[in-house]
Amino acid sequence: MPPKSKKTGKKKPGKSAAASSKAKDATGATGGAKDVDKSTTKEEEEKDMTHAYADDLKTDIYTDVNANPKALVHATEWRKIMNGTTLDEEACARPSSTTTTFATGRLTDRLARAGDPVEINPSVGAGMKIMTVDEWISRWKPNERFPDCLSCGSTNTKEHHFSQTWCRGKKKFESETICCECHMWSWRSYADPDFLSPEEYDKLKWEKMVQENATRLKDARVEDAAAESVAAAA
Ligand SMILES: [Zn+2]
Repeated sequence: MPPKSKKTGKKKPGKSAAASSKAKDATGATGGAKDVDKSTTKEEEEKDMTHAYADDLKTDIYTDVNANPKALVHATEWRKIMNGTTLDEEACARPSSTTTTFATGRLTDRLARAGDPVEINPSVGAGMKIMTVDEWISRWKPNERFPDCLSCGSTNTKEHHFSQTWCRGKKKFESETICCECHMWSWRSYADPDFLSPEEYDKLKWEKMVQENATRLKDARVEDAAAESVAAAA
């Protein structure tokens, strides 16, 4: 078995990313004026790195639009919240003398809140609460690099899942956003054609080493045998 390599940080680009940004910085410096405001250069570098995962792509980004999240994270909560919508639709579709006695506004409000409770964001409070979609996603941030909803084109979206991996200059990322207008989920993922995870890279390296060792051992045995036969002949 190959030795387990350390997990790479998900949000943080690895060493190779930092190295490539330095290289970029260096090429920029040769063309530009010397001694430009250093803080600006630093700011630019940081700004560059935020979305660097989506720069200089070698192939297409895979996209997908779904009514439910593709990333596992939040899938359970989404189902709970959607339970409310199902109830809402069922109740509205079924004409009933008891429901029509409610004032329309109150009825909608009551039914829209009929989902299963989900966990309250720990930074706001504790426990479970029945929430609307808008309330549930209110604390999520947009992805400024990919703000468009792939279903309706609105840029009023929020991201719930993001990961990026850099390994020896090759990159891979995943992003999923929800549209605040149509509540559809937009998925984007990408990997360089020759991307290898650190684990895969180490495995290949290890296998190559084992193979080289085996060949070397075999060669040594052949040499030994040859030396013996020479000795015997002498
Ligand atoms: Zn939309």
